[in-house]
Order: sequence, then C-alpha cells, then structure tokens
Amino acid sequence: MTLVVVPLAESDPNKLIERCSQARAAGADAVEVRLDLALKAGGSAEAIFSSFAWLSLPIIVTIRHASEQGAWKGDEGARLHLYARADTAGAAWVDRELAHHTVRPWRPTRAKLILSHHDFTGMGKDLPAVVSAMRAARADLCKIAVTATDAADLDRVRQLIDGKGPVAAMAMGEHGVPSRLLAGVWNSALTFARLPGDAGSAVGQPAIDELISLYRIKQQTTATKVYGVIGSPIAHSLSPLVHNAAFSAHKINAVYVPFLVTNAPAFWKTCGDWIQGLSITIPHKQALQALVGSQDDLGKRIGAMNTIYRNGTATVGANTDADAIRRCSERALCGELRGKKALVLGAGGAGRAAVCALQDAGAEVAVANRTLTRAEELARELGGLRLVAWEALAKERFDLLVNMTSVGLKAPTETPWPHKLPESSAVFDSVYNPLETKLIVDAKAAGCRVVPGLDMFLDQACAQFKLWTNHEAPADVMRALCVQRLTKS
Ligand code: NAP
Repeated sequence: MTLVVVPLAESDPNKLIERCSQARAAGADAVEVRLDLALKAGGSAEAIFSSFAWLSLPIIVTIRHASEQGAWKGDEGARLHLYARADTAGAAWVDRELAHHTVRPWRPTRAKLILSHHDFTGMGKDLPAVVSAMRAARADLCKIAVTATDAADLDRVRQLIDGKGPVAAMAMGEHGVPSRLLAGVWNSALTFARLPGDAGSAVGQPAIDELISLYRIKQQTTATKVYGVIGSPIAHSLSPLVHNAAFSAHKINAVYVPFLVTNAPAFWKTCGDWIQGLSITIPHKQALQALVGSQDDLGKRIGAMNTIYRNGTATVGANTDADAIRRCSERALCGELRGKKALVLGAGGAGRAAVCALQDAGAEVAVANRTLTRAEELARELGGLRLVAWEALAKERFDLLVNMTSVGLKAPTETPWPHKLPESSAVFDSVYNPLETKLIVDAKAAGCRVVPGLDMFLDQACAQFKLWTNHEAPADVMRALCVQRLTKS
C-alpha cells in the first residue's frame, strides 16, 4: 500500500502537533518531520523530539543535507547524533542520503532506514544502479526523487518500482506531477502531499485533498487503468475533474491525470503502453497522428485529434471536438445546420474544426480571422468557404455566429463581436472561462439563442468517456463540478 506522507517543517512543537492532527484528519498515513528546516527556523531539537509522543501519525525524520538541497550544513557526527535521538524518541523511519551513508554507514536501532537520492536538475544517470546500491546498503526503503525535464521521463521513474523491495520513486517539477498522482498504481512505497495552504517541500507536490478525493490514491491498485490529458500548459485543465468524477460515478477502477508534455511523440512512445486513453489539448492536437493505428475521417480532414482510445489491440485517434461543435451549433439553432448561414470567427485549431464540422453538416460557412492570411490558408485547403475581412464583420448577416477565437478567455469585458447582433440569430461561444462571456451576455441581451463554451467542453468530454468505457458519462455531475470550479476561479 502506498503511504500518503505530509512533510512538516514547524519549529514550534505545539504547531507541529496541530499540523500533524490536520494531516491525519485530511487522510495522511504519516508525516515527515523536516528537522533540518525546523532547526534552521530556530526550533529546538529536544523540544521537537519530546513532542513526538503527541503526534497522531507515524513519523519520518529527515535532516536533509545541504548537498541535496536541505538546510543541514553542520558536522556529520552531530547529524548522526540527532538521527539517533530521533530513533529513541519514537520515529518510525529516518531518511538519510545514500551518498552520506556510503561514506559513513549508520543504522537506527528501532526505526526503519530510508536511504534516499535526489537530483534537482535532471534524471541522473543509472538510477537502477542507485536502487541496487541502496539495497546493498540494507535500506528498508529506497527513495529516489529526480527532476523530470519532460513527461517522457516518467517512464524511467515508474520502472524503478520493480517489485523486488519497497521503493518510493517520484519525479519533481511540473512534468513529474503524474508520478505523485499515480503512486498507488505504480506501487510506490509512499507519495508526498501538502496540506492546503502549504507550499510543500518540493515542486509538484499535490494538495492532499485532491490526491485523496480527486485522484483516489487510496483506491488505486496496480490494476487501476491510467487515462490522462496532455498539453502545455495543463495545470488549468478541467478534464481531470470531470473524467475522475465520471470514473468514480461508474465505479470504474481508473484514474485520469494531467501530463505536462513538451514533446508529445516522445511521451507517447515511452509512456503510451501503460496509458489506456488520452485527451489531447493545445499545442499537441496535430502531434500524434502518425503514431496511432487509425483515425476517424473527420479528424483526418481537420488534421487534428483530441482523443486516443483503444479498440481491442488497436490504438485509434478521434476528434470529439468536431461533433461537439456540430451538436452545440444545432442546439443554438434549435434545428439542423443544413442550408443555414454560419459565420465562424477564428481560423486556429478550433476554428478549423468548426469549419469542417459545419460544412459536413451542410451549412454555408463563412470564416473571419484577425490575421487574414491564416483564414486564406484555411480556405485554400478546405474549399467551399467564404472569407470575410475582420474589418468588414459588422455588415455580415448570418443565422449562426460561432466564436472560435480566444477573445473573452479570462477577460469578461472583451468580445470578438463588438457589433449589433441580429435578434433572430443564434450564438455559440466556445470560450468557457468565464462561464458567461461578454459575447454571451450581449447575445442574450439582443434576444439571440445562445450556447456557451462549457456545453462544448462537456459534450466533447462525454464523447471521450464513451469511447474509452462504452458508458454514458454523468454529464450533470460533471457540469456541476465545472460550474463550482469556474465560479471559484
Ligand atoms: P489557436 O489555434 O491558438 O487560435 C486562436 C484564435 O484566436 C486565432 O484565430 C487567433 O487569431 C484568434 N485570436 C486571438 N486573439 C485575438 C484577438 N485579440 N482578436 C481577434 N482574434 C484573436 O487556438 P484554438 O485551439 O483555435 O482555440 C481557440 C479558443 O477556442 C480557445 O481559446 C478556447 O477558448 C476555445 N476552445 C474551446 C473548447 C471547448 O471545449 N469549449 C475546445 C477548444 C477550444 P490570429 O490567427 O489572428 O492570431
């Protein structure tokens, strides 16, 4: 079982007792007392040791050396003396660096020994050899914390947990976050999580409430299937929120995590084998076509895919954005698209998907883009498309206006349509943060029928869930979670 460990650096023993109780209430299995940091902040080692009897969780004592970015700069003999005191005071584990143990071996008499190795700049060289050296030095638990420079590095971390003895392996930094969220699937001996409001002791440590309730770390087993979303940036994504809720609602043993990915092909080649399904977002929607076995026809025409799923042994690419755009447009029109005049704003990735989906459904499509050359390129490639100059938009007449620009995103006073809207028209805005963009507010005020961007986000997500599981996604539950999150942010 993977232990959830909360690092604490309190120098005041009473505060340490209080934070430990909070960690226990939040679901932690152990706390790590960072004695090096507590001493640096003016704490007394003996006062901290005497508080151990009052701590409500098992204790890992770490006096991290400055050579591995800790605060201990003193003599090694004095450090070993403190470790020995921690051992007699009731620590369950003590954590010391392999590099120091190799020079001057030492063992606790009661506590278990964690030997650790940290690399704060990269992945180091021969990590399996480091684990072997820890085992040869009779570590009770081998801990490796390296720094992922891209998500492809995650696989090297995963492989360190080899089933031959307890290993805690994690990748620090934003690219390494999934190694912490998937610790239960990988059977890592422990994973660190921070209390709400704490910065944590390393970059990438998740908040304990998210780790337990969203990523369901305590239900994870080696049989749990892994899904996720790749993008850059990715921390803002609502996809983990909705897909984990959907897996949970259907009691499916699966977890969905965000992967911050720079090189998408390298990531899929190294990690694809242990990932059952993938959502793909900006800027990778055109990056993985060559690596999937087949792709749906609309996705091929759009030249982009936002989903990978498995069909037996085959890996298939799909574009659920396009179907979502068609359905949202039909909902805005309260009817079918055939013969309707649709004006698409934006010729980026989403604009391209919209043009293809609306053309496929039989609409007469016009497109306008701030940068005309980009719209011209799209028109050349797809054909059957009328171009409208951005400066001439005010004169355009349409049944449906579709915003596929990013105008209005996190900018509640900005709109891509600062013109009068015809009362009988329909407006679909793909932007979903804020929930009600200025375009939607203006369109409602003008008496237009509207569909906001959250509908598209949920529609494409539900379609992905169906491709992965063959189950209907709980759209209402997913919507409520998104509304709650977006109203808070
Ligand atoms: P993209 O490829 O980067 O394209 C961005 C588009 O926005 C381009 O057409 C760009 O025009 C235009 N734009 C940016 N700033 C502008 C401004 N100040 N004035 C006028 N036009 C401006 O991004 P994308 O993948 O197409 O995504 C675009 C938006 O669609 C996203 O921001 C997101 O809000 C929305 N979207 C929503 C969903 C959903 O599920 N609801 C899914 C996908 C996308 P230029 O070519 O002139 O730069």
